[in-house]
Amino acid sequence: MVPYDHMAFEKKELKKKSENISDWYNNVVLKAELADYGPVRGTMVIRPYGYAIWEKVQEILNSMFRTKGVENAYFPMFIPMSLLEKEKAHIEGFSPELAVVTIGGGEKLADPLAVRPTSETIMYTMYAKWVHSWRDLPVRINQWNNCVRWEKRTYLFLRTLEFLWQEGHTAHETEKDAMDMVYTALDWYRQVYEEYFAIPVYFGLKSENEKFAGGKATYAIEALMPDGKALQAATSHNLGQNFSKVFDIKFQNREGKEDYVWQTSWGFSTRSLGGLFLVHGDDNGLILPPKVAPIQIVIMPIFKNDKDNVLLSARAQEIKEVLSNAGIRVKVDEREDPSIGRRFNEWEVKGVPLRLELGHKELESDTVVLVRRDSGEKLTLERTEILVTVQKLMNTIQQSLFETAKKFLDTNTRDAGSWDEFMNIMESTRGFIRSFWCEDAACEKTIKEKTKACTRCLPLESKEEKGTCVHCGKPAKHRWLFGQSY
Ligand SMILES: [Zn+2]
Repeated sequence: MVPYDHMAFEKKELKKKSENISDWYNNVVLKAELADYGPVRGTMVIRPYGYAIWEKVQEILNSMFRTKGVENAYFPMFIPMSLLEKEKAHIEGFSPELAVVTIGGGEKLADPLAVRPTSETIMYTMYAKWVHSWRDLPVRINQWNNCVRWEKRTYLFLRTLEFLWQEGHTAHETEKDAMDMVYTALDWYRQVYEEYFAIPVYFGLKSENEKFAGGKATYAIEALMPDGKALQAATSHNLGQNFSKVFDIKFQNREGKEDYVWQTSWGFSTRSLGGLFLVHGDDNGLILPPKVAPIQIVIMPIFKNDKDNVLLSARAQEIKEVLSNAGIRVKVDEREDPSIGRRFNEWEVKGVPLRLELGHKELESDTVVLVRRDSGEKLTLERTEILVTVQKLMNTIQQSLFETAKKFLDTNTRDAGSWDEFMNIMESTRGFIRSFWCEDAACEKTIKEKTKACTRCLPLESKEEKGTCVHCGKPAKHRWLFGQSY
C-alpha cells in the first residue's frame, strides 16, 4: 500500500544509485514526482516538478532562438501517409515506429494519417507554398510540440512513445547559410548541456548508418551516462536539397534563375532531462544544477513551541523575500507533517541545491544553517550574509557538478589501438572509445553485433590522419568516438 504521505519517506525506501542505476533511476523519477507512467504502455505523464524543468529549457532555448531570428509556430500533428511517403529514405527510416490513424469520425480514411514522428514533410509542404523568391528567405521556424514514435523498449524520459521537443526547420539560399544554421543550433545545444545542465559533451558528425533518415548529414551532441553508456543528447541536420526537391520548394535566386532551397532541421527533446537526472544524482536522490532547478533553495523553519513558531515563520518569510527579490527561486516548507527528518529526505530526493534550516538556536543568535545538496556540507552564517552566500554557493555548486562530470567523461574516454583492447573496454568499463574507423557501413554493423557499440560521432575538431580501422584493418582517415547507446 502507498502510505498517505507517500511523498515523504525514509532514506532506506530509496533504491541506491551505487547498486543498480536503472532501478534507482525509475525510483527517483517517480519519488521526486518528475513523472509517472501513463495508462498506455510506454507513455509518460510529466508532473509539475518535471515540467518546470522543461519550461526552463524552453525559456533558455527560446532566448537563444531569438538571437538568430528563429520564430515559433505550430503545425498539425496529423500527416497524410501520402505526404510522408514522398521522401523514400525518410519513410523507410520512420515506418517501423509510426502510429497511424485509419478511422476518423467512424469512417475508414482513404488516406490514413500518421501521428507525426517529426514534422519535415508537413512543414515543407507549407514552405513550398510560401517561398517564391530569394526575398522570402531564409525561413526560420521552430515549433514546440509532441511527437509519437512507437518504441518497443521504453524508459521514463529517455525513451517514451510520445515525447516533447522543439523542432527547428530552416530554408536558405545557399548551402553555406544552411551549414551556419546547423552549427549554430548544435552550439546552442552544447551550451544548454554544458552551461545549464552541467554536463560536458562531445559533438560532431554522425556516420551514414546513424544519420537522420532523408538527411544529407547529421551532427549530434553525445553525453556519457554513469553506467558508461552514451546518450545522443540532441541533433542538428543538414538536409541539403533532399527535401526541397521532393517537396518542390523552389525560389528565384538573385540571378533570376530557379533554384531549390537548402534546408536544416534540429531538435532537443525531453530525453535530455533523463540525461540530466542520471548524471548528477546520488544514493539520496536527484541533484539538480542550480541554473535549471525549479526550486533553488528550500527554507525550513524547525518548530518547537507556539510563541517561537510565530517568530520563526515570520523570519522565514523575511528571508524568502530577500532571496526572491534577487531572482532566486525559493520555497518555504512550513508543514507540520511529516516529520522534519522525512521532509529533509524529500527535498534531497528532489535535488534542491540548498536547504536553509532555521531553529530556535538560530533565532536567538540571528543566524541560519545552510546545507549543500551536492556535498552535504553544512555552514552557519549571520542573517545578513545569506543573500551573498547563497548567490556564491549557486555558482560553486553549478561549477562543481560540471567539473565532477567532466572528470568522469575524461577518465572514461579511452583510445583503443587494437580490436582486443576495444572489446575489453566495451566488456568492462564501457564509456567512449576513440579509434580509427574505415567509415564502411558494413564494418560498423559488425562492430555493433560484436560489442553493442557503434560510432557516436566524429568530433568536429578532429583532424585527418593516417591510420587503420580498429576492426577490419582497412585504411582509415579519422578517429571516431564509439559507445553503447541508450
Ligand atoms: Zn573497418
